[in-house]
Amino acid sequence: MVWLRNDLRIYDQQSLILAKQSGLKVVAYYSFDPRHYYITPWDFHKTGSFRAQFLIESVVELQRSLTDLNISLIIDNRPPEEGIPDWVDRLNISQIFLQKEWTQEERLVEHNLRATLDKEIEFYSHYDQFLFHPKDIPFELNDLPEVFTLFRKQCEKRSTVRKVLPEITLMPKDNRLEHTFQAPTLADLGLEKIEQHPNSAFPFKGGGEQAKRRLDHYFWDTNKLSYYKQTRNGLLGIDYSSKLSAWLANGSISPRQIYWEIIDYEKEVKKNQSTYWLIFELIWRDYFKYIALKHQDAIFHLGGILNKDYHWDTADTKVHSWIEGTTREPFVNANMIELNKTGWMSNRGRQNVASYFAKDLLLDWRIGAAYFESQLIDHDVHSNYGNWMYVAGVGNDPRDRKFNVRFQAERYDEGGKFQRLWNQNTLF
Ligand SMILES: Cc1cc2nc3c(=O)[nH]c(=O)nc-3n(C[C@H](O)[C@H](O)[C@H](O)COP(=O)(O)OP(=O)(O)OC[C@H]3O[C@@H](n4cnc5c(N)ncnc54)[C@H](O)[C@@H]3O)c2cc1C
Repeated sequence: MVWLRNDLRIYDQQSLILAKQSGLKVVAYYSFDPRHYYITPWDFHKTGSFRAQFLIESVVELQRSLTDLNISLIIDNRPPEEGIPDWVDRLNISQIFLQKEWTQEERLVEHNLRATLDKEIEFYSHYDQFLFHPKDIPFELNDLPEVFTLFRKQCEKRSTVRKVLPEITLMPKDNRLEHTFQAPTLADLGLEKIEQHPNSAFPFKGGGEQAKRRLDHYFWDTNKLSYYKQTRNGLLGIDYSSKLSAWLANGSISPRQIYWEIIDYEKEVKKNQSTYWLIFELIWRDYFKYIALKHQDAIFHLGGILNKDYHWDTADTKVHSWIEGTTREPFVNANMIELNKTGWMSNRGRQNVASYFAKDLLLDWRIGAAYFESQLIDHDVHSNYGNWMYVAGVGNDPRDRKFNVRFQAERYDEGGKFQRLWNQNTLF
């Protein structure tokens, strides 16, 4: 059994390759774990409709791709600790292949599952979400630098990115189960239906093929990659940045696939600061994964990885004015309204609203992070909590900066077009 979580792809997929090499029959399993859809103490869903919709699309597309390889995807609505043992019995499964996860909730699920299953079942787990594989980085985890630049420079100098793994070959037809499993609807998950907003900067669908299409558009069809460094702080439209984060977050595409495609682009079209900068950003993504691996549950603590003893407010009215986009700051409001209506916010927007939340409103940064977790289509636990800690001054920013939101609005939204788009009723 290949137990899929944040590795929803058929290319560059270590678990599938290893499972196929076992010479046994192969089945894939994915659980829409009900605990991911509950309502948090702040009255929003842990996973909101935008990300859930994207996830459903990703799983449905993956199911089609796996079926083409004669592999069935079991789609379950029970927690994995309940669902997997049942299927292990029914299908006489002896081995489970999975991508390693190391955050609190994911660890606990795996621990409980192992405790429930017969000791005979063998688990094969491996890291499959990094750009630089943990075995290839030039540090012991304990010595991982707390400053990004040190990490990046050492990795660039002393590590290499592994090649993309090939797609697995077709399994025999009798590998397939007779039953085809249905993905849930939003309503099944207790979530409201959503419409795509006409001004969404992320009007894309989930799934590996869609990721590939986006990459082809951004790299090969439009050459936008050649201008990425100049446009990446944009706020409007679909092409100011790669928009690959959502597919990366659930593993529909791997960072190695993107990296090697950038290298091809550099050979065939152009190599410049922009092409390098996309790799630079992928290294940021890796960095937050390594920070979470090193510091474990501290990334969820109020004092963060620095164990800072700041005073934080939790006043409901302040939290809600931020969520609803009714603060005194039109730039913050516009970004929050965009997030609420589309499930997307630019990097520039995220930095500003997070800084405003933690450093102007002085609110417990974890509530802001939990709201991002609920709303963002591209939520990734390491990037989200890592960036929130960074902005809140309890993480890896050696300078502990605070954003001047008004100045930022003047600089990045000169003329106020972005703010007008989302703040239809706000005067400024
Ligand atoms: C408070 C806050 C919360 C965030 N939460 C998330 C999150 O939940 N999920 C997420 O993927 N990103 C998160 N980011 C990082 C960043 O904003 C997004 O990765 C980026 O906006 C996604 O758009 P893109 O794919 O077009 O990025 P591009 O600019 O095209 O960058 C390419 C890729 O590099 C990676 N990347 C870029 N910037 C960062 C960064 N600062 N940290 C980590 N990786 C980065 C992403 O994988 C991204 O897809 C957060 C940033 C902040 C400030």
